[in-house]
Amino acid sequence: MANLVLRNLQKSYADVHIIKDFNLAVEEGEMLVVVGPSGCGKSTLLRLIAGLEEVSGGEIFIKDKKVNRLEPKDRNIAMVFQNYALYPHMTVFNNMAYGLKRRKRPKEEIAKRVAKTASILGLEDLLDRKPHQLSGGQRQRVAMGRAIVRKPTIFLFDEPLSNLDANLRAQMRIEIRKLHQELKTTSLYVTHDQVEAMTLADRLAVLNKGQIEQIGTPAEIYQTPSSQFVAGFMGSPPMNFLNAKINDMGNAIQLHGGTLLPFHEDTIAARKGQPIVLGIRPENIVKAHKQGADRFDIDIHLVESLGAEQLIHGRFPGDKQTLVLRLPTKIKTHAVGERITLGVMPDSLHLFDPQSKLRVA
Ligand code: ADP
Ligand code: MG
Repeated sequence: MANLVLRNLQKSYADVHIIKDFNLAVEEGEMLVVVGPSGCGKSTLLRLIAGLEEVSGGEIFIKDKKVNRLEPKDRNIAMVFQNYALYPHMTVFNNMAYGLKRRKRPKEEIAKRVAKTASILGLEDLLDRKPHQLSGGQRQRVAMGRAIVRKPTIFLFDEPLSNLDANLRAQMRIEIRKLHQELKTTSLYVTHDQVEAMTLADRLAVLNKGQIEQIGTPAEIYQTPSSQFVAGFMGSPPMNFLNAKINDMGNAIQLHGGTLLPFHEDTIAARKGQPIVLGIRPENIVKAHKQGADRFDIDIHLVESLGAEQLIHGRFPGDKQTLVLRLPTKIKTHAVGERITLGVMPDSLHLFDPQSKLRVA
């Protein structure tokens, strides 16, 4: 059963449409992540679901009950924000207990639920502290505790980790994933961070300008992006896009320099001689030891050393097009100005229509 259903949801401010005819079903116990660039409508979406904004059109169902007109407090949703919004004058215990107190739960029940939540989150020793006596990670954990303690039907997460430094973010990501595995509360998590999205999601929806471009498992989205937008957004460094064409035989992709990358698929036979956008991920490009019809050269113009691997930025000789590839450092380090010969891994090519920007194969 879907726990949260959004049907033809719309939101506009004045005559600017922020959320356009949005449809989504989040299944019971699922962690669904909505990922998209800043300003694409993620927070607006969550605020509509939480009841902090009024919808301009469409319906919101929680457990089959239409909640459009319900007050936020009656929707049994808990939201975790980027800025933790803890009460500064209250202890950790009281911050976590606040929602239950307001709902007039018995004292013993509150004490028990806060203690249980604190132990799940490793906050037992901090219950008497005030927020200013906590680190950023601890504060974020309290904010989550406050949400968990209420046993809501649905968790909404609005970029909860974006104020933390990189190490802490990676650590909290793992904690949220573990927590979800333990609690199995239906969750909708929005972020602009694609690593967070890939690692946390059971299913992933890629949002572009208030509309879902693609929805699927992280692996599906990564391996078969449905559009150039999705392909370019998911993956770091992003997928390379090259202007190419289908050869006259209809069995290979021809790069500007004449390189022919064999491509055996019926989908391209109908596009003989036509332009195509070729997508290759940086990790799918390999060094070649000798020249060949399916090899190409690039001139290195920048090298980023990441320790275990290096990102090589190159340019095609006699062409303005550039390419980024990822190579292990242990084989050989490369230098600016070097010319190297490359090939691509079989079955790693993505093709997009130059006009519609949609996936061809
Ligand atoms: P995201 O969370 O994906 O970064 P938001 O949902 O915060 O994006 O905002 C989406 C768009 O809606 C932005 O262009 C923003 O300027 C606009 N917006 C958000 N809230 C309001 C508002 N109260 N009035 C007018 N425009 C708004
Ligand atoms: Mg936002």
